[in-house]
Amino acid sequence: MKNQELHCPICNGTKAKIAGKDVKLSGKFEDKEFLTIPLTVLQCTQCGYYMFFDHSAEFTAKDS
Ligand SMILES: [Zn+2]
Repeated sequence: MKNQELHCPICNGTKAKIAGKDVKLSGKFEDKEFLTIPLTVLQCTQCGYYMFFDHSAEFTAKDS
């Protein structure tokens, strides 16, 4: 499990762990149902906020 460099929109934390890969979300909007493309889910290690990214997103490993 490696940490990714990014900024949490809630607490501005810079560390997150991967909570899931190739996760598809489904939902409804008005009378239409939808299914998202596979997403990578990251969870902020500070506040627990979930962030979703598609496969075009790239992260740089933080050396610490
Ligand atoms: Zn956070």
